[in-house]
Amino acid sequence: MANLEDVPSLDLMTELLRRMKCSSKPDKRLILIGPPGSGKGTQSPIIKDEYCLCHLATGDMLRAAVAAKTPLGVKAKEAMDKGELVSDDLVVGIIDEAMKKPSCQKGFILDGFPRTVVQAQKLDEMLEKQGAKVDKVLNFAINDAILEERITGRWIHPSSGRTYHTKYAPPKVPGIDDVTGEPLIQRKDDTAAVLKSRLESFHRQTEPVIDYYSKKGMVADLHAEKPPKEVTAEVQTVLSS
Ligand code: ADP
Ligand code: AMP
Repeated sequence: MANLEDVPSLDLMTELLRRMKCSSKPDKRLILIGPPGSGKGTQSPIIKDEYCLCHLATGDMLRAAVAAKTPLGVKAKEAMDKGELVSDDLVVGIIDEAMKKPSCQKGFILDGFPRTVVQAQKLDEMLEKQGAKVDKVLNFAINDAILEERITGRWIHPSSGRTYHTKYAPPKVPGIDDVTGEPLIQRKDDTAAVLKSRLESFHRQTEPVIDYYSKKGMVADLHAEKPPKEVTAEVQTVLSS
């Protein structure tokens, strides 16, 4: 743990105020489902801040493991490069571990997980053991035809997960993160060719997860093709009802 004496007072006070504000928020356990480029990563930080949740994006965690060449990363890399899903056991393990973080105390946003029915069943089992359950599944419904432009124009600030788009959300200076001034990157799998296989995985393996939760009456459909602010407004309506 960081030595608190070394943390600047302003940071400490800001964190204290955030925790006080969060204490009055209801717990929420949310799943964001949608194809690559549907806007899950764009909406997640907004929901996270509003409800004091942790944002668990399995894609981000796997990319970090690949970059650090951990045993998990080594196992995951080949499937990720091809736009295929990595094994259920690998991702269930990382989610199980990540949900124990103190920042998940008020609940979580799962972004990119579960992506198969087996993962959904394992998640239900994990939560059942803690006497908890998923509250809502937000379905980022969108036509495939829109996604190539979104994916090939996406730029990312890897350490924060901030996302930009050359046309729809450009940074102030091209290729540079607005907040830190650090360089932005494009994901290796954000190409038109790899998108094809990612979409094929989505339709074949992940759409059944939407049916799985629909049968439980938990799914709210969003119009994810709309501009970001309109999608945010839809999310807020769903979450406040
Ligand atoms: P996902 O996390 O679902 O893969 P992202 O949130 O990273 O998708 O969005 C993909 C790209 O599309 C990003 O470059 C983002 O800036 C842009 N984007 C996100 N939401 C919208 C939207 N509603 N309209 C236009 N572009 C968007
Ligand atoms: P994403 O950042 O969500 O687009 O995920 C990038 C890649 O990570 C995917 O194409 C998969 O190879 C892998 N991945 C992420 N989440 C999962 C998951 N829940 N199950 C299996 N593979 C995953």
